Amino acid sequence: MAPLTAMDFAAILDDIEHAMAARTDRGRVADYIPELARIDPAQFAIAVSLADGRSFASGNADTPFSIQSVSKVFTLALALGKLGDRLWTRVGREPSGLAFNSILQLEHEKGRPRNPFINSGAIVTTDAILEGATPAETLGAILRFIRTAADDDDIHINEAVARSETETGHGNFALAHYMRAHGNLHHAPELTLGTYFHQCAIDMTARQLARAGRFLINAPDMPRMVSPDRVRRINALMMTCGHYDGSGDFAFRVGLPGKSGVGGGILVIAPGRAAIAVWSPGLNAQGNSLLGTEAVERLARATGWSVFG
Ligand code: GLU
Repeated sequence: MAPLTAMDFAAILDDIEHAMAARTDRGRVADYIPELARIDPAQFAIAVSLADGRSFASGNADTPFSIQSVSKVFTLALALGKLGDRLWTRVGREPSGLAFNSILQLEHEKGRPRNPFINSGAIVTTDAILEGATPAETLGAILRFIRTAADDDDIHINEAVARSETETGHGNFALAHYMRAHGNLHHAPELTLGTYFHQCAIDMTARQLARAGRFLINAPDMPRMVSPDRVRRINALMMTCGHYDGSGDFAFRVGLPGKSGVGGGILVIAPGRAAIAVWSPGLNAQGNSLLGTEAVERLARATGWSVFG
């Protein structure tokens, strides 16, 4: 395939945006976090940030949304930087095949979560970054990492979303207490979850998220934030575990590593080529953006970027 021009990218993204605007089945906005239930499902954005620094976007690409579990990619990078391979004594690297908030496997596997992208695994990962630091310092480090990657300081935590989840996050408290009972949570559940809820409540635009994702393509114009070895491994985990019990379907349809969040955002990586962010707040049955998935499926087909050829 001949290299795509700026005009090609603009046309591809506009086509996708038009197709998505016409869709009436837009999935269901997450309502278990009351603050997210208020989001208008009619919104859609797609942004592509290439390794050479060029960026393209279509739709509501400058509207901030709650990144939720997409934050787990950044905290995994930070935890690996802090603990190295020791992180894997506390969390596994296998897909769970279960819902993002499931507690089932934890009992069988003695409080060691399957992977860092399901809720239990992400809570352990945040607990690991908290070692020797306060929640405020830890959140500062997470924000600093994301702002540096995005080359943009205008990225903030949405306090209303954090509060909303703190008041209603009983399922996550159950996971945290269960892991604490097994000695796999080193801090009080309130402390670790306070940090976790705030990291999930970071707001970003699709344009900012695509830009921040460039640390996973070793973009040459960026400061090196993570070694190429770790980039490869984070991408592998995004491919196998980034969409919960919908990970196999995402790999089948899109063929690229991706991490979704219940705010309706997905960060997708075309290794070495581009970071892509899509956002459409309505979710499918697995809690992944319904139209976001379809949009990146179309993008991967139009660009030929699937890693499977
Ligand atoms: N903060 C959400 C939770 O813990 C994140 C889930 C998600 O985005 O998939 O339930």
